[in-house]
Amino acid sequence: MASKPGGGYEYGKLYRSEDKVYPREVKGRFATLRRAAMFVLLGAFYFGPWLTWDHRQAVLFDLPARKFYIFGLTLWPQDFIYLALLLIILAVSLFFFTALAGRLWCGFACPQTVWTEAFSWIEMAIEGDRSKRMKLDKAPWTFDKARKKVLKQILWIALALYTGFTFVGYFSAIRPLTANLLSFQSGPWEYFWVIFYGAATYGNAGFMREQVCKYMCPYARFQGAMFDRDSLIITYDAERGEPRGSRRRGSDAAAQGLGDCVDCTMCVQVCPTGIDIREGLQYECIACAACIDACDGIMDKVGSPRGLIRYSTERALEHKSYRLIRPRTLVYTGILAVLLTSLVTSIALRKPVILDIIRDRNTLYRDVGRQGIANSYAIRVVNKHNEDHDYSLSVSGIEGIRIETDTEISLSGESVVTVPISVTVPHEYASGGHVIHFRLDSTDGSGITVTEESRFRGPTDR
Ligand code: SF4
Ligand code: SF4
Repeated sequence: MASKPGGGYEYGKLYRSEDKVYPREVKGRFATLRRAAMFVLLGAFYFGPWLTWDHRQAVLFDLPARKFYIFGLTLWPQDFIYLALLLIILAVSLFFFTALAGRLWCGFACPQTVWTEAFSWIEMAIEGDRSKRMKLDKAPWTFDKARKKVLKQILWIALALYTGFTFVGYFSAIRPLTANLLSFQSGPWEYFWVIFYGAATYGNAGFMREQVCKYMCPYARFQGAMFDRDSLIITYDAERGEPRGSRRRGSDAAAQGLGDCVDCTMCVQVCPTGIDIREGLQYECIACAACIDACDGIMDKVGSPRGLIRYSTERALEHKSYRLIRPRTLVYTGILAVLLTSLVTSIALRKPVILDIIRDRNTLYRDVGRQGIANSYAIRVVNKHNEDHDYSLSVSGIEGIRIETDTEISLSGESVVTVPISVTVPHEYASGGHVIHFRLDSTDGSGITVTEESRFRGPTDR
């Protein structure tokens, strides 16, 4: 049994399906801003993988090679701490901007909003504005209706598949990917992910739209906890607007006991989530500001000041002053400052070479006669630079300690080499366990030095 709109129940059904929302096209400052944001963000997304930096794709998350290229920065698996830090910074930034500006992210920059805007734009271009779309859906099937519906689906599917292809292009170099996909030489996984992300875009932006914001997005659920009475919200000024009601053009609303709202329902008709902002702040509101544009247009027509629906704060609505500096914003600013400083400093001080010493655990030590006691190690050197480098390896920490094998190591750019070495110590200094220090110095003038500790084990070490 499912509740019907306006009360009552529909027998035989467990859930009531959502009524389709037909948002009306709106023009105004915020609509222009939203469309500009769509072009900039989608442009950056679609153009991003085609950018070249240093003879390679500028942004590439190469999972098989376990290397992430972000312009001049190459992140190795050992550097994933920076990515973790970056994700934490993005999360705290979202908290911070929500406390300051409410759901600005949802309305203008969230991928769900941006792609829904693009899909709606295609839909409106083919099927027309709200009333035409409603009429078309109710009309019986004709050649013209089929032509419009098929054309819309073709454009939606093309955009969705290109989105899936672009997304995969961030993980698999896009130029070879294009050639391989077109010549049907890509692996099955590449086809799978292109179709998977294409289908997700098609489903989310073409059909589910506001349902994603209302029922699937976790941010919509917990954003209330990030709000306070000074957070920017889109709100209807009930004090000014009520009592609402229609009136004749040019008549004195105050004399009729009416507020500024002419009850035209334009704010409801343009709302992509189908809510009425006049009923107060609702979690379904994605702060797209379409109702502000719609209401401003009506206020211009009836000759009343704009801003009956506007960006405001709960405190401002109570005629109290706005507070930018408050405990919540101070805490977020402090956390962000610490995290950003840590990220920038750690990337600036990042060592371009990694030296790993792995002691041979199969033999405790070897007696090599007059040379003394020997221990074996595997030296693993990772050159994170794009350029080739030459290094010299040395060891210290015990009197007479020396490396018996070759100490010169050459590495090409972004490569890893593992070299077995043998270290000896004269008998008289070798007994017991010792901490020893390996040092790698570049010999090509690049001034790179890196050190690493290990352990030397002699005859009486336990
Ligand atoms: S109430 Fe206004 S701001 Fe909120 S989703 Fe609807 S149109 Fe957008
Ligand atoms: S658009 Fe403005 S005037 Fe029209 S119903 Fe909404 S709040 Fe009232």
